[in-house]
Amino acid sequence: MSKRDETKLIEGGRRPEWTQGIVSPAVWRASTVLFPNCAAIGSRRKVDGELYYGRHGTPTQWALAEALTELEPGAEGTMLYPSGAAAVAGALMSVLKPGDELLMVDSAYEPTRAFCDQMLGGMGIATRYYDPLIGEGIAGLITPATAAIFLESPGSLTFEVQDVPAIVRVAKERGIVTLMDNTWATPLFFPAIAAGVDLSILAATKYVVGHSDTMLGAVTAGPGRYAALKRTAQLFGQHVSPDDAWLGSRGLRTMAVRLKAHEANALAVARWLEGRPEVARVLHPALPSCPGHDLWKRDFKGSSGLFSIVLNGGDAAARAALIDGLEHFGIGFSWGGFESLAIPIDPARIRTATRWEEGPAVRLHIGLEHPDDLIADLEAGLERFRERAG
Ligand SMILES: *Cc1c(COP(=O)(O)O)cnc(C)c1O
Repeated sequence: MSKRDETKLIEGGRRPEWTQGIVSPAVWRASTVLFPNCAAIGSRRKVDGELYYGRHGTPTQWALAEALTELEPGAEGTMLYPSGAAAVAGALMSVLKPGDELLMVDSAYEPTRAFCDQMLGGMGIATRYYDPLIGEGIAGLITPATAAIFLESPGSLTFEVQDVPAIVRVAKERGIVTLMDNTWATPLFFPAIAAGVDLSILAATKYVVGHSDTMLGAVTAGPGRYAALKRTAQLFGQHVSPDDAWLGSRGLRTMAVRLKAHEANALAVARWLEGRPEVARVLHPALPSCPGHDLWKRDFKGSSGLFSIVLNGGDAAARAALIDGLEHFGIGFSWGGFESLAIPIDPARIRTATRWEEGPAVRLHIGLEHPDDLIADLEAGLERFRERAG
């Protein structure tokens, strides 16, 4: 029987042999797995679903991986990682070897860039950055050494929406692997594997966990990609604690309702901000002022709670006056929890393939508070900004 996403989130990973009759799979703690005899130790296989050794997982991790795989139609399997950054690194290491070249979107999450420049670079794997709005023009950047193209849509901080189908088409024609950081949309708003992406990466720390209390990453593999992904993760000794995997599974149950609420609240706040004279631009994929908005409308099923604003004039001190006095917004990294956050951002500092020349900017994560309270808070903040900016 076909299942919709909301139903998959409720039922995912709850196999009777893993739950033993309770609603949620328990936290299985394990290092040693005991075998009945020597013959059994020789014949037991290191496959998902068969206990072998703690590092290879228990029903607690398998349940979360299986639930995430189900969310990406056409996917072969999912590996879990101790953070989103580890998931990015694990996915890249599973497809690249010395001498290869990687095409990386210029609006990528900054630690992803750092891994490419500092780790891959030292291993003889070159990274070239490309304009997030390049679309099928990516074909012009491909060389015989190009082994993989990395996408993140929308981009971190600046939210450019990429033409994923066009880039995937170009890559497939040339036998190039595509990887996508799908953290913003999650598979609920953008099923990346169905769109032809080979490896779909999630910082599960964000909307999967949803409560700002656990670090977790996941990579879901498309057809023919799971074996190498898994082998690489195991060679690196990657393992997620059962407690963290369990919190990921718990977060998943409510992810659809949370995302809908984040979406509605963020849209209410973003639309209000759009009408304010202190705001030059709202970088929210569901608003026409965002680069690639038409692609978002064509390809995505929704928008989440994270977006940025560019302020009209002012400087870093005026921006700090806005942010520091906010009552309902925390100031801190990460996002995807139930609570609102605001941080100052300076994308110009990070770019290399494209230029970003706009005023002081702020990234907002809109949580599950009442949007009117958030708007009132921001209204007072913009007043402080205006006083300081003069
Ligand atoms: C936060 C984030 C990551 C890294 O996830 P961690 O769990 O913090 O390591 C990767 N990609 C994007 C887009 C993120 O926002």
